[in-house]
This record gives sequence, structure tokens and C-alpha cells, in this order.
Amino acid sequence: MKRILLLGSTGSIGESTLEVISKFRDKFNLTGIVAGKNIKKLKEQIKNFNVKYVGIRDKGDLKVLKKEFPEVKFFAGEEIMEMIKEVPSDIVVGAIVGSSGLLPSYKALEEGKDLALANKEALVMAGKFFNKMAKEKRKRIIPIDSEHSAIHQALRAGKKREVKRLILTCSGGPFWKWEKKDFSKITLKDALKHPTWSMGKKI
Ligand code: NDP
Repeated sequence: MKRILLLGSTGSIGESTLEVISKFRDKFNLTGIVAGKNIKKLKEQIKNFNVKYVGIRDKGDLKVLKKEFPEVKFFAGEEIMEMIKEVPSDIVVGAIVGSSGLLPSYKALEEGKDLALANKEALVMAGKFFNKMAKEKRKRIIPIDSEHSAIHQALRAGKKREVKRLILTCSGGPFWKWEKKDFSKITLKDALKHPTWSMGKKI
């Protein structure tokens, strides 16, 4: 049984993670969740998963939540860093978007947890430090972003020394087959018209 602390539970990746957890309740135990502003969804998740530790971005939301869930221990704002230390967990899922996800994900490694990372932005910003900490603590950074995870899984099929190069091809976004000279005319509408994925405006 793996104990999971999920950072970014109310987002797209967070909800997919909860779906997996609910399908494998014998393998995963959700010990804590962290969300931003979506209190409505957060409340549903607390009820559905009977979570005992909950983190929330703004202190202002605490009063109502504490009243409704007196048995839950809440952490707000900077206390989320404390929460990562306190909540019993084997794996921390890093699915808070953008730079807000950087410090909590790093803290997870620092506290000696395996980090299942969707928030690749953290590695773009501070990959060197993340890898160093993972090595020091002998913990893993497990990629759960789809392409990274595909590579991770493929590499497990053989030995490291058998791999000479990794070549990443793009999956064919909205500008596939566009002439370079037309790039200056790209509109927001064009950019959001991905032929395969529906990833929302933010992505
Ligand atoms: P969403 O915007 O759907 O979700 C982001 C989550 O982070 C929400 O739970 C949000 O809470 C929470 N959050 C935001 N800011 C804070 C904060 N300051 N403190 C605490 N929680 C916060 O993003 P996605 O799920 O789409 O993406 C998450 C990560 O996964 C990103 O790094 C993205 O690059 C990566 N990713 C996404 C994929 C996708 O298909 N969506 C695919 C592969 C990787 P709330 O909603 O309550 O405000």
C-alpha cells in the first residue's frame, strides 16, 4: 500500500490522479491533498476520499473549511511546506501548475519522498537542484507527464548502457505543416486549435 500526498488535487492532472486512486484503493491510500482556489471541488474531494490532511492556498478560506470539517487538519499558504513534512506519505504527486509548484515539489524530495512529477516547469526552472536532492536522498523523480513517462517506461525495458541517444519528435501541434514565413500571422485561435489534445487555454 502506497501512501499518496497529492499537490494540485483540483486540477486536471489532480483529478486524473484521484480517478486512478479510486480504481486501486487496495494499492493507494490518499493521505493528503492540496488545492488552490477551488473550494467547492476541494470539499467534494475531502468527503469522497475521507482525507485527514488538507492544504489550501489562502488563509481566508480556512474558517469555513475548519467549521465544516473539524476532524481534518488544515494548512494554508506557507504552512503547506510544513504539511509536506508532516503528512505520512511515500509518494508526493506534484501537479500544482507553474512556478507555484516549484517549492512544494522540491520540499517533497528534501523530506525523503518519491516525487511523481507532472509539473515539468519545476525541472525547467531548477532541474539541477531537483536531481541533486533526489540523488542525495536516494529518492526518485517519476515523470507522469505523458511523453516523459513514455520514455521512462520504455527505458525500463532494457539496460542504460544500451541507450546511445534519445530522439524526441513532436506530436504534431496546430502548426504542423505551416510555413515558417506564416508564423508571424498566428492568432490565439490558431494556437488553441490542437489537432489531438484538448488541454485548455492555459497550456
Ligand atoms: P490545472 O490548472 O488544471 O490545475 C492546477 C492545480 O494547481 C489546481 O489544483 C490548482 O488549484 C492548483 N494550484 C494552483 N496554484 C496553486 C497554489 N499557489 N497553491 C496550491 N495549489 C495551487 O493544471 P493541470 O492539472 O493541467 O497541470 C498541472 C501540471 O501538470 C502543470 O505543471 C502542467 O504543465 C502539467 N501537465 C498537464 C497536462 C494536462 O494535460 N493538463 C499534461 C501533462 C503535464 P485550484 O484549481 O483549486 O485553484
